[in-house]
Amino acid sequence: MSDSDGKKTLGLRGAPARPGNVKQSFSHGRTKNVVVETKRKRVVVPKPVGAKTGTGSNASLGDPKKRPAGITDSEMERRLKAVQAARARETEEAEARASEEKARAEDRERRRAEAEAKEAEERQREENLKAKAEEDARRKQEAEAAAVAAAAPAPAVQPASAKMPNTKGGAPAPVARKKEGDREETNKRNKGNDDRRSGKLTVNQALTGGEGGRQRSMAQMKRKQERQRQKAMGGTVEREKVVRNVNLPPAIVVSELANRMAERVGAVVKALMTNGMMVTQNETIDADTAELIIEEFGHKVVRVSDADVEDVIKEEVDDPKDLVTRPPVITIMGHVDHGKTSLLDAIRKAKVQSGEAGGITQHIGAYQVKTDNDQVLTFLDTPGHAAFTSMRSRGAQVTDIVVLVVAADDAVMPQTIEAINHAKAAKVPMIVAINKIDKYEANPDKVRTDLLQHEVIVEKMSGEVQDVEVSAATGQGLDELLEAISLQAELLELKANPNRAAVGAVIEAQLDVGRGPVATVLVQNGTLRQGDIFVVGEQYGKVRALINDQGERVKEAGPSVPVEVLGLNGTPGAGDVLNVTDTEAQAREIAEYREKAAKDKRAAAGAATTLEQLMATAKADADVSELPLLIKADVQGSAEAILQAMEKIGNDEVRVRVLHSGVGAITDTDVGLAEASNAPIIGFNVRANASARATANQKGVEIRYYSVIYDMVDDVKAAASGLLSNEIREHFIGYASIKEVFKVTGVGKVAGCLVTEGKASRAAGVRLLRDDVVIHEGTLKTLKRFKDEVAEVPSGQECGMAFENYEDIRAGDVIEIFTREEVVRTLD
Ligand code: GDP
Repeated sequence: MSDSDGKKTLGLRGAPARPGNVKQSFSHGRTKNVVVETKRKRVVVPKPVGAKTGTGSNASLGDPKKRPAGITDSEMERRLKAVQAARARETEEAEARASEEKARAEDRERRRAEAEAKEAEERQREENLKAKAEEDARRKQEAEAAAVAAAAPAPAVQPASAKMPNTKGGAPAPVARKKEGDREETNKRNKGNDDRRSGKLTVNQALTGGEGGRQRSMAQMKRKQERQRQKAMGGTVEREKVVRNVNLPPAIVVSELANRMAERVGAVVKALMTNGMMVTQNETIDADTAELIIEEFGHKVVRVSDADVEDVIKEEVDDPKDLVTRPPVITIMGHVDHGKTSLLDAIRKAKVQSGEAGGITQHIGAYQVKTDNDQVLTFLDTPGHAAFTSMRSRGAQVTDIVVLVVAADDAVMPQTIEAINHAKAAKVPMIVAINKIDKYEANPDKVRTDLLQHEVIVEKMSGEVQDVEVSAATGQGLDELLEAISLQAELLELKANPNRAAVGAVIEAQLDVGRGPVATVLVQNGTLRQGDIFVVGEQYGKVRALINDQGERVKEAGPSVPVEVLGLNGTPGAGDVLNVTDTEAQAREIAEYREKAAKDKRAAAGAATTLEQLMATAKADADVSELPLLIKADVQGSAEAILQAMEKIGNDEVRVRVLHSGVGAITDTDVGLAEASNAPIIGFNVRANASARATANQKGVEIRYYSVIYDMVDDVKAAASGLLSNEIREHFIGYASIKEVFKVTGVGKVAGCLVTEGKASRAAGVRLLRDDVVIHEGTLKTLKRFKDEVAEVPSGQECGMAFENYEDIRAGDVIEIFTREEVVRTLD
C-alpha cells in the first residue's frame, strides 16, 4: 500500500498529504508528479455507540463477538472500508446519472424547438415561392396578352416550376431570407456546412452515394457543382428551362423517363410520390402515369411504341398495274440418295452457260436458268428439308414450287413423306420428278401408286399434281421437268413490282475473310441496287457490291434474282428478311431494336429454362445417354441444317446434344470446349487451323470432316447407337500450300506448291482450302515435279498442281489430299 516504493503507477490512494497529486514512476528511476482533479465525497458512516475499544483504529469495526469466526481486526477494517467505498461510488454514480439525464432532456427540448422553427421556415418559404410563381405566371400571361404576335415558349416553364418547387434551384431563397430572423442565419450556416461537406467528394461519399445513401451520377455531381459555382459568382441564376419532346413507349423505367426529360431521377421519384405512386427509380411505370409526370415537368409527350421503328418498312401494297410477272423460285426436296443434288447439277449444267465466266461457276446458294421458251427459273441450290423449314421458321417463304424427287428404283421413303408434309404446310404446289428412270429396275408406276397413299394424286392417276419422269444421269426428261415448272408458275401468276424499294430473303450468309460478311439474298419484290441502305434481320448496311450467280458484278437485282450482297455490318441468318430503308439511321435503329428484342426473348427463354426445363432435363438425363457434339460449318445455312438434322437424331435412350455450332474454321477455343465435354468436333466443309489441329492431337479430341450432310447424319446416328467403331472412311494423305499461281497455255492455272505434310498423290482426291474453309473439291488434272508428270510428291518437296475443271486458285490457299474408301455400312 505504500506509494514510496516507486513501483506503483497512477493512483490516488497513496498521498494523503497532497490529495490532488499523483506520483508516476517510470523506468530508470524517473518520476513525475501529476495534479489530478479529485472529487472528494464525504462518506458518512454511522458510528456505533458502544464500539470504543482500546484499539481506536477499530472504532467502527462493530462487535468483535458478532464477527464471523476467524476474521481478524485488520481484515474487518479492510472489509468495512470496501463497503464504504462501494457506497460512496454508488452515490456518485447516481448523481452523475441525474445530471446527465437533465442535460439530455434540455438538449431534446432545444432540438425540438429548432426543428419546429425550421419547419415553419420551410412552410413560409414554400408559400413565398408559390406566391412568387403565381405572380410570375400572372405577369407572364399579362405580357403574353400584350405581345400577341410573339409566341414565346417560356411560359411553359413557369407553371412547371410553380408545381414542382423542389426541382428548381434556390431561386426563391432571397424572399424567404428577408423575413427570417436569426434562425435563418443559423440555418444558413448549417447549410454552408452541408455545402462544404458535399463539395468535397470523398471516396466514401462517391461510393455510397453521399448523403442518405442515394446514388449520385457523375452528371448529378456536375450539375450540383455548376449550381454552386453560379451561386458563388452572382447569387442565384435562373436557368433557362429546355422543353423536350419526350418519346414515351407503352412502359418506361423511372430512371429512363428522367433521362429522357433530362431531369433528376430524385425529382421524378418525388413527383411520382406526390402523385401517389410509391416507386423506385428502377421500377417501370405505365405510359399514362409517365405522361402526367412529363407534363408536370413542362415537357412534351410523344407517344411511341418500341416496334414503331419498324413502321418505316411496313409492307406497302403494290398497285396491280405496277406488277409484272416474276420468275418462280423452286426448291428440290426428297429422300436421301434419290438424286436431289444430281438433279440440281444436271439442270445447272444443261442450262447455265458456265463457259462465259471462264468456267468458274459460283456457288451462292441459288441460281437461275433459262428454259427453251425463254422462261427464267430460280432454283434454290440448298436441297433438304432442314433448310426449307429453317427458312420458313424465320418468316421467309421464298419457295413458290417444290420439286419432289422420288427415285423410280426405290419408292416413297420417310423423307419423301416429310417433304410432302412440308410442302403442304407451306401451301406450296408440288411437282413430282420420278428420277433414275434410266435404271433397269426403275418402276415409275409404283412410285405413282405409292404417292396415292399420301394424298398426292399425280396427273397420270387423274390427279392435279404434275409428274415427270427424269434421269439426272442421262439428262432425260429435264426439259419436260422445266416445262412443267414453267406451266405451274404460269398458273400461280407470280407477280412483283420491280419499281419499289427491295424486299428479299437471305438464302445463305457467311463471314468471308477478304470481303467481310456476305449474304446471298433472293430479291422477292422491288429492285435491290448498289448503294441501297438496308436492314436485314439484326444487321444493316449499304450495298457495296452485288454479285450474281455467274460470279459477275451487277448494278441491280430485280424480283426472284439471287445475288450476293456485300456491305453488311454483320452476318445475318438464313431466312432473315432484307428491307431497303431511306436512311442509315432508320436501318440502324431497326437493327438495334431487333437485336434488343431478340436478346430479351433469349433472356426470357433462358429464365424459363432454368426452372422447368432444367428439372426436366435433369430427370431425363438420368435414363438417357447423350452424345455431345460440336459443329463447325462453312456457311450459316449448313450449320442450321445440320443442327436441325442432329436434333432429330435420337430415341428414348440416346440423344445428340450440340454444344456449339458455328461458322468458320475449327479453332483452339472449339477444341477446348470439346475437350471439356468429351465431345467430338464435326467440321462440315471446314478444317481445323494448324494450332487447333495440334491441340486436338495432343488432347485426344476427335475431329471429323464431312462434306455431305447425310454421311454425317448417318455416322452420328451410328455413333449415337454406340455401334460405330472408329472406322475411317476418308484417309488423309497430305497437305500442300500454294506458293504461286502460273498461267500455262493449254493447261490453265497451275499452282506452284510445297508439300507441307504427308504427300501429294496424283490419283487422290483434292480439296482447296482458303482460310480453312473448303471452297472446292475435285481431282487433279496434273501433278508435276519439274517438267515431269509424277504419281506422288513427298513432303518437303515442291510440285505443280492443276485442278480438273477448276481455276479459282490463289497463292496462300492450301490443298488437302485425301482418298476415300468405300465402307460397307451395316446400319441403315
Ligand atoms: P441426294 O442425296 O438426293 O442429293 O442424291 P444424290 O444426288 O447425291 O444422288 C444419289 C446417288 O444416286 C448418286 O450416286 C447419283 O449418282 C445417283 N443418281 C442420281 N440421279 C440418278 C439418275 O437419274 N440415274 C442414275 N442411274 N443414278 C442417279
